[in-house]
Amino acid sequence: MSQPLPQLRPAVAALPSYIAGRRSSSDNTAPLASNESHFAPLPAVLAAITQTGNRANRYPDMFSSELTQRVAEWLGVGPDQLAFGPGSVGVLAQLIGALCDPGDEVIFAWRSFEAYPILTNLAGAVPVTVPLTADERHDLPAMLAAIGDRTKVVLLCSPNNPTGTSIGEAELIDFLNQVPAGVLVVLDEAYREFGPADALNPVTLLSRYPNLCLLRTFSKAYGLAGLRVGYAVAQPELADGLRKTQVPFSVSAVAEAAAVAALSSLDEVARRSAEVVAERERVIAAARELGWTVPDSAANFFWLRADDAHRTALVEAFDAAEILVRGYPVDGVRITIADPASNDRVLAVLAAHPELRP
Ligand code: PMP
Repeated sequence: MSQPLPQLRPAVAALPSYIAGRRSSSDNTAPLASNESHFAPLPAVLAAITQTGNRANRYPDMFSSELTQRVAEWLGVGPDQLAFGPGSVGVLAQLIGALCDPGDEVIFAWRSFEAYPILTNLAGAVPVTVPLTADERHDLPAMLAAIGDRTKVVLLCSPNNPTGTSIGEAELIDFLNQVPAGVLVVLDEAYREFGPADALNPVTLLSRYPNLCLLRTFSKAYGLAGLRVGYAVAQPELADGLRKTQVPFSVSAVAEAAAVAALSSLDEVARRSAEVVAERERVIAAARELGWTVPDSAANFFWLRADDAHRTALVEAFDAAEILVRGYPVDGVRITIADPASNDRVLAVLAAHPELRP
């Protein structure tokens, strides 16, 4: 008699796969589906990668001590307030796993980053989604109203992927003032470097709101998406819990050295980010001029809401122009801002297809 094969947990069997932005190996294709940096890696990063490669036979520092020290000094927080992981998505998986028992609830806006429901379900927790407002922003009063006895975590994404909209300082503070102390508020700031330079730095809120945790990444403005380094800034107890739930050695030595090197080039990172911001403003203004409705974006991408028919046709029009963008069933299309020539190609598609305007 044959024995039954090993079974996946039902929560895992039911998971949808994470759908990554499409890739192309053609030089002529503009890869605008993944919100990556279009700049070549920073020279200091390339040098650090080469150097660290000499020690590839050795395990990395388990807790990325040098990077921890550097980020602590940079942000003005204690090293014990930081926990690193393989991308901020890796840290988020640790966070949800560390806080949620099966059946606990995680609240987040929808549409937002598609890893949120996957990581929540993976932990056996229950996703509670709160629709964005008509102007594509987080509906913080509705998110507050959704908090119940089983809520463990509220995920805020600002700027929000994929809509680019951000949460204002006053509304964030108002929200934090009302969230019960036992509920962790995670502010995912993957795109913060593309926001206004004078925006509130939420690091300053950490001492006032011990249930706040910031999630940051080296993948976007720092150009290290391929190396996988992200981190949380939180209270020492939570950061300690994250270090305990880390898959051992999940930040490689090369990734740590590259992130340290990126921190030695902050002026260049700021210059590059400013260039992206200027291009984003140019593209959004031109798209609106052409009659498209585009929400304000504080990120390195912009959003076109579109029903399924328009979205499919729009993605096909971009495909035909060898531009890879990200289409989202039901909701719309997200387009990464890159170099001026690629951005001009995007605008040419929008100009050529007025019939696809929703
Ligand atoms: N948060 C948001 C909002 C994102 O869009 C992304 C990347 N798409 C991430 C987190 C994860 O970034 P990483 O794991 O590369 O740090």
